[in-house]
Amino acid sequence: MIKTEKLFKQFGKNVVLKDINTEVVQGEVVAVVGPSGSGKSTFLRCLNMLEVPTSGKITFRDQELTNPKTNIQKVRAQIGMVFQHFYLFPHLTILDNLSYAPQKVKGESKADAEKKSKQLLERVGLSDKAEAYPSSLSGGQKQRVAIARALAMEPDLMLFDEPTSALDPEMVKEVLDVMKDLAKSGMTMLVVTHEMGFAREVADRVLFLDHGVLIEEGTPDEFFGNPKTERAQDFLEKVL
Ligand code: ADP
Ligand code: MG
Repeated sequence: MIKTEKLFKQFGKNVVLKDINTEVVQGEVVAVVGPSGSGKSTFLRCLNMLEVPTSGKITFRDQELTNPKTNIQKVRAQIGMVFQHFYLFPHLTILDNLSYAPQKVKGESKADAEKKSKQLLERVGLSDKAEAYPSSLSGGQKQRVAIARALAMEPDLMLFDEPTSALDPEMVKEVLDVMKDLAKSGMTMLVVTHEMGFAREVADRVLFLDHGVLIEEGTPDEFFGNPKTERAQDFLEKVL
């Protein structure tokens, strides 16, 4: 689905991603973990070219994103992204938040876009909020709307950057449950997270980044049960 080869990213002299080589296959759920500042967000943002890599190659399906001739807008329509802060459109109702892009970007009819959006709201347990505005929702509800909004574009790949980090503890589970359902449905997902329970239970594979280097890559059992490097062991001691 998506592949990075010799991916480097630097900001000025700060080399933030150093030679990342990895691949995510269709249907896989990959957790990206590591200390703060290790380059997790930058890595995720490179995957849809919100950050332009300094060098290296990224391929999404058969399209090379790092080729300047590639139409990135078109590719982005196939990659959903959910952030720590939800970035809903404050002046639009929840239903309009979901149905806006499918109409604007994909040319769907209003009726089709709204029908699909209502199904998605049902899927994330928020049917009753269709006509509400974002300001009236809790953080957990907003994040579920943000996920549904990304899904309304029918993406092939979903990127999550710490989707529960800004939430009050009692709202974390409702968002993780939506993500678990999505994983079960076969969605290909990359999830930057500090929720080690989620990574262990839901991910097929864990990537551990430290100082911009992909230090370990393995199944949750391998990574959590038997981390190979001292750096991963240190990290796990702190977070578990
Ligand atoms: P993480 O998500 O793992 O906490 P980030 O990818 O946000 O890490 O950041 C990795 C490093 O890149 C940090 O040193 C951060 O300061 C730096 N960085 C991230 N974005 C920018 C930017 N837009 N300009 C300059 N430096 C940045
Ligand atoms: Mg980050």
